[in-house]
Amino acid sequence: MIRVRFAPSPTGSLHVGGARTALFNWLFVEHARRFGGEPDAAFILRIEDTDKQRSTDEFTQVILDGMRWLGLSYDEGPLFQAEGLARHQADAQRLLDEGKAFLDDGAIRFRVNHEEVTWEDAVHGPITFHGKDLEDFIILRADRTPVYNFAVVSDDIAMRITHVFRGDDHISNTPKQILLYRAFGVPVPVFGHVPMILGADGKKLSKRHGATAVADYQHEGILPQAMVNFLALLGWSPGRDRELFFDVAELVEAFTFAGVQKKSAVFDTQKLEWMNGEYLRHVGAPRLAAQLAAELPGLAPERAAELIAAVLPRARTTLDVVSRSRVRAGLDPAVPDEKAAAYVAKDPDGYRAALRLVADSLRGTTDWSVAGLDAHLRQLAESKGMKVGAVMQPVRVALLGATVSEAVNELLVLIGKDAALARLEAAIQSS
Ligand code: GLU
Repeated sequence: MIRVRFAPSPTGSLHVGGARTALFNWLFVEHARRFGGEPDAAFILRIEDTDKQRSTDEFTQVILDGMRWLGLSYDEGPLFQAEGLARHQADAQRLLDEGKAFLDDGAIRFRVNHEEVTWEDAVHGPITFHGKDLEDFIILRADRTPVYNFAVVSDDIAMRITHVFRGDDHISNTPKQILLYRAFGVPVPVFGHVPMILGADGKKLSKRHGATAVADYQHEGILPQAMVNFLALLGWSPGRDRELFFDVAELVEAFTFAGVQKKSAVFDTQKLEWMNGEYLRHVGAPRLAAQLAAELPGLAPERAAELIAAVLPRARTTLDVVSRSRVRAGLDPAVPDEKAAAYVAKDPDGYRAALRLVADSLRGTTDWSVAGLDAHLRQLAESKGMKVGAVMQPVRVALLGATVSEAVNELLVLIGKDAALARLEAAIQSS
């Protein structure tokens, strides 16, 4: 029987570290179910809300939303730790009655017999704590609330948890928890402690490194399938080749704890965005057009797909896709980015003159095609003794507010003659 749990505290949003722990638990169960002959393997979500001061319903909701977004379904739960209070108290009383704990100023303190504690960690291999490092510790406070280490063990026993996979930061709690299992006379679960996640500078990942909450990535236009792929590779590798792209089914098949690395993993935002770009292109313009329809109002699906296809090669997030498609569609004005503003500022008169030249010359052209416009603009540059870029770049900056994009002739075709000329005129007027 395999029963695992993810046990977040609702004292903050779902962070990438927690999401990765949840994902590893989920993958472990799915793998056991489909490939390990464990059809009844179960993944349980337990919300550890015993810290009433810091726990909120909002954070619980954010955690549930984040798990749903990532597709991490659970078989039981969400169960709430605080609802187990009567059991926590009864379990503490039992240890007291059996002489394994004693009263200390109204609190119940667990008696440590200074034995050595060793476990075979699923990630780190054997870990040993010496009895002398362990002091008698409180399990139930004088106000009759359980301490974290006690509530967790009471819950994990009640939920018949067989494998505890969690962050490295809990290694130091494990010996105390093992002593409690021994005192209750029940089998000790398998423990596996997944390594920390570091920022690019090698320090523990924190807000200083930018977004750490899963919801932030959702709002920044990361696709859940890219996030899952990226999180899975944070501290896990399939061992064979250096393959990078795994869909969920492939992850489920390949995932084992033997592939979880001991050393900490580095969270590389650039890599996540790059990966996401690859996922966006894999999803493709027609499907993205359907998914993003609400953000591209008034556009026929084919038109939306056409716009998206144009921006997809350079897009890293769905926000890129939406904002760039909207500008091309004329739903948003072309607000110059930093580089575009600098380009104009370098030579405002030259910029305006080039736009005037191109607009006047394009008005008369009848061949509004990719090949026709390319030939036209090249000829125009040549006849004026200008570099091709000096003709093209002002158009790009005026139409997009950007200095990098698809080829300008393609852009003109995408926008269409009337709209392109009207926008060039407006850019001339306002510059
Ligand atoms: N509530 C604990 C935490 O958020 C989880 C402890 C555990 O998984 O045992 O870190």
